Amino acid sequence: MRIEMVKLFECGYCTHPEKIVNPKRPFKKIKFPATVALLKHPTKGYILFDTGYSKGFLDATRSFPYSIYAKLTPVFYSETQSIKNQLKNEGIHPSEIRYIILSHFHGDHTAGLDDFPSAKILTFKKAYDHIKQFNKIKALTKGCLVDLLPEDLPNRMNFIDEQPEILLSSEFHPFHEGFDVFGDGSLFAVDLTGHAIGQFGIFILLKSGKQLLLCADAVWTSQAYEELVFPHKIANLLIEDRAAYRENIEKLHQLSKNSPGIDILPTHCQKTWNLVKEGCIYE
Ligand SMILES: [Zn+2]
Repeated sequence: MRIEMVKLFECGYCTHPEKIVNPKRPFKKIKFPATVALLKHPTKGYILFDTGYSKGFLDATRSFPYSIYAKLTPVFYSETQSIKNQLKNEGIHPSEIRYIILSHFHGDHTAGLDDFPSAKILTFKKAYDHIKQFNKIKALTKGCLVDLLPEDLPNRMNFIDEQPEILLSSEFHPFHEGFDVFGDGSLFAVDLTGHAIGQFGIFILLKSGKQLLLCADAVWTSQAYEELVFPHKIANLLIEDRAAYRENIEKLHQLSKNSPGIDILPTHCQKTWNLVKEGCIYE
């Protein structure tokens, strides 16, 4: 099977000094969008990849301790930007979202989960097991706002990494192994542990033959894998496995050389944001 359509949305942004992601750049703050992808699968229907910021996130980060998060990364968001409201403008009701593929548990990816109470959440057990051991404050230091996770989350999750791993075809190399998310060859998840434990990306195979890799936060910007730019050491605080993080940047670099036809889309990159602004729809 092949995915029929992928559309990208921006659901708020935050600001950081550019130096954090590229040590050669100044401390001047730049914008990092929280992008979300809507996929249309021929039999599974609409699927979201991550959920961006939400009103719940903004409310929660007004008071201590979550206000720390808002101070470190000021968030710019209005309610019209929630993925729920943007989908409504497209004529898609929240109940039509059957699955949410959750790349990892950082607040800017999980905040909108509550708006889709009937969606199954597909994620990595490795990621969930890692965050569930932490109390609220410790989780916050890892970028997770555990109070914002839906209460019934444990009943709604299916773990992609509980399936047997399969060998990927050569166009995806140097990613050699992954998980066939629905068992139909439309989406392949690859473990991108580094930025967060159990963070993963998905290769999307579209009807037209076009292929994408939604790599979530494996890199903050495309420049990182294009030019092999490694983040400033301040960013080490935001990276759970530094060796794996570097290795992923190198792998993405090789992938971009081996298979230049695959569009690699990091969640927080300005280039991904430009695709949103252009109204890009992959078919
Ligand atoms: Zn993250």
